[in-house]
Amino acid sequence: MLQGQKALVTGANSGIGKATAIALGRAGADVVVNYVVGKDEAEKVVDQIKGFGVNAYAHEADVSDEAQVVDMVARIVKEFGTIDIMVANAGLQRDSSLVDMTMAQWQKVIDVNLTGQFLCAREAAKEFMRRGVVPEVSRSAGKIVCMSSVHQIVPWSGHVNYASSKGGVGMMMQTLAQELAPHHIRVNAVGPGAIRTPINTAAWDTPEAEAELLKLIPYRRVGDPEDIANAVVAMVSDLLDYVVGTTLYVDGGMTLFPGFATGG
Ligand code: NAD
Repeated sequence: MLQGQKALVTGANSGIGKATAIALGRAGADVVVNYVVGKDEAEKVVDQIKGFGVNAYAHEADVSDEAQVVDMVARIVKEFGTIDIMVANAGLQRDSSLVDMTMAQWQKVIDVNLTGQFLCAREAAKEFMRRGVVPEVSRSAGKIVCMSSVHQIVPWSGHVNYASSKGGVGMMMQTLAQELAPHHIRVNAVGPGAIRTPINTAAWDTPEAEAELLKLIPYRRVGDPEDIANAVVAMVSDLLDYVVGTTLYVDGGMTLFPGFATGG
């Protein structure tokens, strides 16, 4: 489905990013596995992707550092010839109530989750615009997928930094989609609900926690990283070539105001 395309996934040595990098490789793309810490796991992901007969390498970079993102995208253009798919996935949480939240907690989350996606989108878009559409490869000149969250639209007490970053990602994505669509570049977001990854272990790792979590999920199943990876593969494929500026929520219905199923 993605044969001949060159993809870069940030934060790809864990959770959703790892599953996405593997799924893109399985679909035929050559893949760069970005990581900031955890080289060994990144190299394992690379080996798994190479097992599909495509190219892959790991690249260490902090997505919130402008020079490192510039170098990371320059390298994929040098090694793979270009870039067709940017999955801006890296993200983190630094949870606190408002009154106890430090400037460092606020800034770190905004820097990685929002500024990091801005830098990755900017550098990828430069190469997409330079190269333009190659019809044998894809109908579009490039695809950017912003990893958002249900918290793009669902407020979240005790997580104002995270919710603000994802709300920002939603508006950034729409603005970039509007700006880049005339260049045949598609920008969209995927908004996961509750997915089993290291970022949110406490929410599902005991039966009591999982039971509480399931109350928020009409489909009554916690998501797996592959649920999101499959959505990203679909989003960047030409099957969805007319999808521009959309957030695809992949959340088992979490954004359907589940409290209103019995109340309201
Ligand atoms: P995770 O902790 O398993 O993965 C996050 C990855 O980002 C890790 O590889 C981490 O090292 C990397 N990262 C952190 N800071 C970085 C930086 N400065 N530069 C480069 N990489 C960095 O968590 P995950 O659940 O796989 O999260 C992936 C994305 O999905 C995040 O954007 C997160 O907000 C989003 N998300 C996750 C869930 C969920 O339920 N797990 C729900 C909604 C959204």
